[in-house]
Amino acid sequence: MTHAGRVLIFGVTGQDGAYLSKSLIDRGYCVQGTTRSTNDENLWRLKALGIDKKIGLYDCGLSDFDQIRKIISETQPDFVYNLAAVSSLGEAFEDPDGTMRVNADAVEVIISSLFSQFPEARFFQASSAQIFGEPLTWPQTEESIRAPQSPYAEAKIRADEAVANARKQGFFAVSGILYNHESPLRSGRFVSRKIAEGLVRYSKQKTGALKLGTLNAERDWCFAGDVMSGAILALSHSVASDYIFASGKSHRVRDWVEIGAIHLGLVLYWEGEGLNEIAIDRKNGHKVIEIDPAFYRESDPAKLVGFADKARQELGWTPEFQFSALVRLMIDAELARYTD
Ligand code: NAP
Repeated sequence: MTHAGRVLIFGVTGQDGAYLSKSLIDRGYCVQGTTRSTNDENLWRLKALGIDKKIGLYDCGLSDFDQIRKIISETQPDFVYNLAAVSSLGEAFEDPDGTMRVNADAVEVIISSLFSQFPEARFFQASSAQIFGEPLTWPQTEESIRAPQSPYAEAKIRADEAVANARKQGFFAVSGILYNHESPLRSGRFVSRKIAEGLVRYSKQKTGALKLGTLNAERDWCFAGDVMSGAILALSHSVASDYIFASGKSHRVRDWVEIGAIHLGLVLYWEGEGLNEIAIDRKNGHKVIEIDPAFYRESDPAKLVGFADKARQELGWTPEFQFSALVRLMIDAELARYTD
């Protein structure tokens, strides 16, 4: 059977891997991907999109460099996307050395292996807005100063440097500097999914307050499917370069709650301040949101907002989902999967 090209995705079972695979399969690509576990639980995102049987799966932890080389050799890819990473800041703080091995050293191994075996292949690396740390300028561009404040960000910068060096040697390699992106396939560890789950649960049971951290924390949030469309565009472009993928707008955690509540027909009002702030259901006086001191910070210095003009101008990329549509999408998905 002819296909549009062979794709290898490191981290195919994650949120981004699932959306990217779906888009590529729909466009006729032959998709293969790596995971550390092919058990049913770990394939839930691929199953949700109906593509679990359409992807060739390879067992690979990114700290196993020989396995990385072997898989590249076996799959003979035209396009490689590296989405696999220790993707939580907390986990990276707990194991900085392991994070450096997976999030940076492995990227060097992928690039050198492609360079020696398939120099015509094109490579996309998922970088992160965390490389800007607590930025001095807003919005950030591809040129903004790097000021990493975590082992996660330090490793992503090292990986970006490997990408830039490979590009200087003529290899088609791109770093996508990704801001927060969410979807119904987001892990429950992240605030967007926590809010969707918590509000839907409350709307059904009318009891049980959801615990959140800093309500005024602001982030630049996109839909994961939109960001992965950008990754595909970057590898289809005539020239390789690094791109910011971001909405350019910042929204507060509080906005997620308010838009989600309205979508569920809940009428909330806020009372109190700081650690004592709560949201109350106007209909019955029940507490819907309360603050968990473990997640609360007096101020939220990280104003990460990306300026995606380069991606817009050069790739024609614009995110389709506005913030409120993204909140509604996640609430609707949670309603659909709700069981008592
Ligand atoms: P995700 O849902 O957490 O998926 C990451 C995948 O990486 C997991 O499915 C996991 O697959 C794999 N992985 C983790 N540790 C690994 C290891 N030691 N060896 C091999 N694979 C490993 O993350 P995502 O949201 O899709 O993010 C994709 C990429 O974008 C990541 O590189 C992340 O750092 C970056 N990024 C994401 C965001 C965001 O808001 N989502 C923002 C900025 C940057 P298995 O468990 O199946 O092995």
